[in-house]
Amino acid sequence: MQTRLLVTAVLLAALAVGAHAQAPVGTTPAQLVAAAKRAAGTDHAGTFLRICVAPDNQNATPRRPPSVRAVPDRATWYSRPYKVFDNLYFVGTQIHSAWALTTSAGIIVIDTLFDYAVEPEIVDGLTTLGLDPKDIKYVLISHAHGDHDQGAAMLQSRYGAKVVMGAADWESTLQRPASAPGGVPKRDIAVGPDGLKITLGRTTVDVIATPGHTPGTLSYLFPVKDGNRTLTVAYSGGTAFNFPRLADNFAVYRDSAKKMAAAASAAGATIVMSNHTEFDRAWDRARIAQLPRAAGEKHPYEIGPQAVQHYFEIMRDCAEAQRLSMN
Ligand SMILES: [Zn+2]
Repeated sequence: MQTRLLVTAVLLAALAVGAHAQAPVGTTPAQLVAAAKRAAGTDHAGTFLRICVAPDNQNATPRRPPSVRAVPDRATWYSRPYKVFDNLYFVGTQIHSAWALTTSAGIIVIDTLFDYAVEPEIVDGLTTLGLDPKDIKYVLISHAHGDHDQGAAMLQSRYGAKVVMGAADWESTLQRPASAPGGVPKRDIAVGPDGLKITLGRTTVDVIATPGHTPGTLSYLFPVKDGNRTLTVAYSGGTAFNFPRLADNFAVYRDSAKKMAAAASAAGATIVMSNHTEFDRAWDRARIAQLPRAAGEKHPYEIGPQAVQHYFEIMRDCAEAQRLSMN
């Protein structure tokens, strides 16, 4: 009898948890992967594949972000710049995202690509778009891997932009030799666990500490304008599992995914962005955004609040599946 009562209590507790939209659906790795697969659909297939189907750190020698000086063939990465929202411009490559968020008091650059791409994509891209790189006031680095941060030192030294990074990622960055590709930025704004808000003119970026991909990974919430509508972007700052394969690391990553899901929900985010085009199809969406839209047709980046939640559910469930599979 007591056992039956206990089972009932557990079932009721499970139902109560299940009623919450953001609760995990399964309790085994296979169930969690199945839930993540459902959440991914085809909207978020790239993210699902990278962290649930083929996690980078599953093998003894995980795939590391390359930090080579050799410049790949330009045709394999170069992208024209695109105006994607009225106040947001894609200045990334075919592979990695960099964005210019324009405000009434200057430009906020989000992520800065490999060193070889910063001049042709960010500097020349802004100029092509009719913007002035001298107006860059802040450079937000989602995390300290070369594919996102090698342009930071140049934007800081040439234009006086303030570089914003997670405190833990500043520590690793400042240990690099001066000869590191792109150089080493000087420490400007270090973001701790509580995050902070960066306000420039009338625009505020909510900077959220989401450790996991790296210890200092940052994610963001910020507004974009689409005609007379203002939409909220949830920008996920780190995705792949190329950190040491330890249960604690997956737990930290999982908890950050939950934190970001809650923040995105509270802010009413209907757009999710990441910093690799494989995760949010930024290069595709940027090009599709150039085409005319029918009356009432949504922006190609606007996927709605539920699909934004799905994105963070995938991150949460794939991390939890890996954590559980280690026990
Ligand atoms: Zn990375």
